[in-house]
Amino acid sequence: MSRIDEFLNGVRTVAIAGHVNPDGDCVGSCMATYLYLRDNFPEIEADVYLEHFKPEFRFIEGIGNVKSRLLDKDYDLLILLDISSKDRIGVAGSLTEKTGKILCFDHHVTNREQYTWLINDPQASSASEVVYRYMDPDKISEKCAEAIYMGIVHDTGVFQYSCTSPETMRIAAGLMEKGVPFNRIIDKTFYQKTSLQNQLLARTLMESIQLFGGKLIIGYLKNRDISFYGAVSTDMDGIVSQLRNTAGVEVAVFMYEKEPGVFKVSLRSSEKVDVSAIAQKFGGGGHVRAAGCVMQGSVYDVINNLTLYLERDLV
Ligand code: 5GP
Ligand code: MN
Repeated sequence: MSRIDEFLNGVRTVAIAGHVNPDGDCVGSCMATYLYLRDNFPEIEADVYLEHFKPEFRFIEGIGNVKSRLLDKDYDLLILLDISSKDRIGVAGSLTEKTGKILCFDHHVTNREQYTWLINDPQASSASEVVYRYMDPDKISEKCAEAIYMGIVHDTGVFQYSCTSPETMRIAAGLMEKGVPFNRIIDKTFYQKTSLQNQLLARTLMESIQLFGGKLIIGYLKNRDISFYGAVSTDMDGIVSQLRNTAGVEVAVFMYEKEPGVFKVSLRSSEKVDVSAIAQKFGGGGHVRAAGCVMQGSVYDVINNLTLYLERDLV
């Protein structure tokens, strides 16, 4: 099938869901799907399920309708975006058990789940790019274009990462022609930081450590620091990218203690190392150059466990 329309035969109700800690691509692809259905299939009732996201994403049309708690309702079709694995769906996770048809758009090399339809292109820049390909460009409204554009901007690091292709740029050009306020989206949702975010970044950089002749950089925030600053997970977005920007670094690791002894770990690689393979060793997943997992123990347990695998690639 080549268009979303073809998955909608006989469908009256749709649930749309992304992953836990939704990032720009997750929010962008979910909201673009929602807006495309709203604009072109008004007879279909669609609900979007997303957990807490950055307030900067609030400019996206229709985002005020997003549900953070599951409604007591059955759906004909569940559309999943950017999720990587079923255990990361969060609030709408139980819908995978009770919804007859599941359509998943993704770009995670580690997504090997079973769905009615899995459209997964690990070469694509973003889930937003994948779902865009299944839309009729003439039926994409300016508001829907804004959501897709934001998704692409976030997962490409503003068209910087190696996942950016000529096709990505052509899609972005088409969205620009629809009038998206591209400079505002890039500035306000990607580059702009709150002063709290800058403080957390500064503290992490100050206390970061480098190993293997500087090829590995590790930054961390402990539970007590996060509580001290009153920070939430989205306040730590982007710290791992800044660590990776350090000259000579091949792999950057950022971890924060989300509850005592449990760390959310983000891994980024510059050129050589496949960090998705390392994340998978610890039950996580992601992409070759950007992956994540959850690990237990102290900061030093996590570092020891990771360096065991990273040593092979970095020494
Ligand atoms: P981040 O470090 O920004 O949380 O995630 C980087 C990439 O890895 C994203 O594409 C994200 O979906 C994926 N990822 C992060 N954490 C996990 C995890 O615990 N499990 C899986 N399967 N993927 C993850
Ligand atoms: Mn993504």
